[in-house]
Amino acid sequence: MITCPLCGHKEEVILTDSCQFFYQCRNCNKMIRPKGQDCCIFCSYVTVPSPSI
Ligand SMILES: [Zn+2]
Repeated sequence: MITCPLCGHKEEVILTDSCQFFYQCRNCNKMIRPKGQDCCIFCSYVTVPSPSI
């Protein structure tokens, strides 16, 4: 699950084999980007660890 930092919408995401830098929220249609030094949105917003590269 990913939680949109802008509107708080929770949504299921499919984890891919690689990091995903952007994610578009289906609720507010804003592009979510990683926080700070995080390499991908999974690191910032998803509760499971990012898949390794
Ligand atoms: Zn949103």
